[in-house]
Amino acid sequence: MNKPLQFYSTNLKAGTLSFHEALLQGQAPDKGLYMPVSIPLIPIEAIREFRQMEYPEIAYHVTKPWLAGEIPDKDLKAIINDSYDYEIPLEQVFERKYVMRLDRGPTASFKDFAARMMGRLMQYYLKAENRRLLILTATSGDTGSAVANAFYGLDDIDIVVLFPRDEVTDRQRKQMTTLGKNVKVLALDAKFDDCQALVKRAFADPELASFHLSSANSINIGRLVPQIVYYFYAYAKLSRPGEQIIFSVPSGNFGDMMGGVLAMKMGLPVRKFIIATNENDEFPNYLFSGTYEKLEPSRNCISSAMNVGHPSNLARLLALYGGVMDEKGIIHHASDIEQMRKELWAVSITDEETRRTIKEAWNTWKLLLEPHGSVGWAGLLRYLQEHEKQLAGDQLCVSLETAHPAKFPEEIQKITGINPPLPKSLQGIDAKPEYLDDIKNNYADFKTWLKSKFKL
Ligand SMILES: *Cc1c(COP(=O)(O)O)cnc(C)c1O
Repeated sequence: MNKPLQFYSTNLKAGTLSFHEALLQGQAPDKGLYMPVSIPLIPIEAIREFRQMEYPEIAYHVTKPWLAGEIPDKDLKAIINDSYDYEIPLEQVFERKYVMRLDRGPTASFKDFAARMMGRLMQYYLKAENRRLLILTATSGDTGSAVANAFYGLDDIDIVVLFPRDEVTDRQRKQMTTLGKNVKVLALDAKFDDCQALVKRAFADPELASFHLSSANSINIGRLVPQIVYYFYAYAKLSRPGEQIIFSVPSGNFGDMMGGVLAMKMGLPVRKFIIATNENDEFPNYLFSGTYEKLEPSRNCISSAMNVGHPSNLARLLALYGGVMDEKGIIHHASDIEQMRKELWAVSITDEETRRTIKEAWNTWKLLLEPHGSVGWAGLLRYLQEHEKQLAGDQLCVSLETAHPAKFPEEIQKITGINPPLPKSLQGIDAKPEYLDDIKNNYADFKTWLKSKFKL
């Protein structure tokens, strides 16, 4: 096997380490985020061969160079086959404009892609080292359920999920609270950013070091690598030889979009990434003006999983363009904004436009979107409109749908009159008992709770 790929911290004050070490650690000790020292390349001829492959085989070829020397091929294949056993529809909307539905996993969210592979990889390495981990994760909706579901019942991992009580739907909450076993859930009277802040503080707390805390949020590099794969998949299945693709990504913490940008840096022929946010418009403003201003607090929108003021992966994105941003959001070194503008385009979509887009997509094309996917689709339509003259009519474009419409039944019914049928994974959940604790938005209370539940 080859020498393992090395990962450095975006704060530049920690040593480099391999994928599996970065995976188990989560955040770097200097509070930075791990990024690869160099990005593995996949030649275009190899990408062309993906056309004949099923998803798990593509996933194997795309993730293998990231894990080189760290896992035998047959074990990686087994983990991937076990993670991806559901369909990934590419729905044609008009001409060569598609929606990729990433919502067919066990929690009906795109986060299943990352959580399932990450959980299995973590379990694999922990078993080999005879260790345990306690995963802390803050969620604005779907991370918690995807991670809880992916890690539920694993032998060597305990999970604590913190979520903002009023910002998730009943169904999203029940997907986390009805599990039990090694999954503990905490409701906070706070915002997502507050939950995230408690988690980050716990990671940095020396008194908790013997818990072996780690993160399953998209600050963990193990979340990003599996999210590179579906960009290759869409391109392989839809492209004509030699052409470039445009992706639109509904974005909150920018983990999904980072997967895409890494795919491009690995050699995927991408013409543009459209980064579509809801009213949390920190990044669109930055890309447009070149002046960075942190957005605090976050704004509440109907695409609740994207109610993020300051995206936690922004430090990674800036690092890819030569910048340095610390964990507080302070820029120590500017990134190449011109290059960023060549590759990325960003837009903020209001709730009003999100709702209108759901309605028009249904009426015009019988395309059923939920609020997050609607932000992505609205972003794509806006881009096409503003760049009509530069783009050929047959430009290939793919917008990502990140959750199943049945997770937002009230909103969808109000707008379209349709009651989206529940996917199998969500059936029966409404009647199950819930297990959860309440705590105040206060670090001392959080720490006391942790110590009462787990032995140091
Ligand atoms: C988490 C989430 C997003 C945002 O993804 P990021 O990686 O945080 O940008 C979008 N849509 C849904 C449904 C999500 O759960």
